[in-house]
Amino acid sequence: MNIAESIRSLQRSIPGHVKIVAVSKTKPVEAILQAYEAGQKIFGENKVQDLVLKHSQLPSDVEWHFIGHLQTNKVKYISPFIRFIHSIDSLNLLTEVDKEAVKNNRITNCLLQFHIATEDTKFGLSLEEAELILGSEHFTNMHNVRIAGVMGMSSFTEDMEVVRKEFKTLYGYFRLLKSRYFYHTDSFRELSMGMSGDYLIAIEEGSTMVRIGTSIFGNR
Ligand SMILES: *Cc1c(COP(=O)(O)O)cnc(C)c1O
Repeated sequence: MNIAESIRSLQRSIPGHVKIVAVSKTKPVEAILQAYEAGQKIFGENKVQDLVLKHSQLPSDVEWHFIGHLQTNKVKYISPFIRFIHSIDSLNLLTEVDKEAVKNNRITNCLLQFHIATEDTKFGLSLEEAELILGSEHFTNMHNVRIAGVMGMSSFTEDMEVVRKEFKTLYGYFRLLKSRYFYHTDSFRELSMGMSGDYLIAIEEGSTMVRIGTSIFGNR
């Protein structure tokens, strides 16, 4: 299948309420344009430098999502145009995102990234750390970030029951945070979970955003 065919077959296999973030990291602008022309408008990148370059080379109605580990000193480069940051993993980072959003007179959508996998190489918060952020006075005073939901990456394993359990855990965190901190608003509604190998399970477990690279663009 070529890129356009992959996009169309994905769209057919995914319920309408689930957004597809096409993960274009390491892929050239030409490949992204093929996906764009097939109707894909949301793209995800995990390196600031690549994202900034691609943003400048692609149509302005592309919705860019940042999905990788983000260093605070690089937030300023993406703040003017980024639509979602999936990888908020500290109060410090959130503070910086808010500060840059103020400068750009924007509201930046953010997802709290949780550590749900067994590997300790993956970034992310524990539930306790997330609650410290959301309960802090500091957070109450931020006005240019919108916490739109949560994100997590499952373990790198063939065992789909392990993966399913991790997605259930993330869903549980989502429900809990929603009831404790966001019951009065519906802006907290996204569950970013599921990649090429596990997106169907993620959707069964409540995902609203799947981040798919390989199944669209081929191997990296
Ligand atoms: C690379 C990446 C993906 C996409 O992975 P595929 O297996 O190629 O679909 C999704 N999420 C994050 C955070 C990534 O870094």
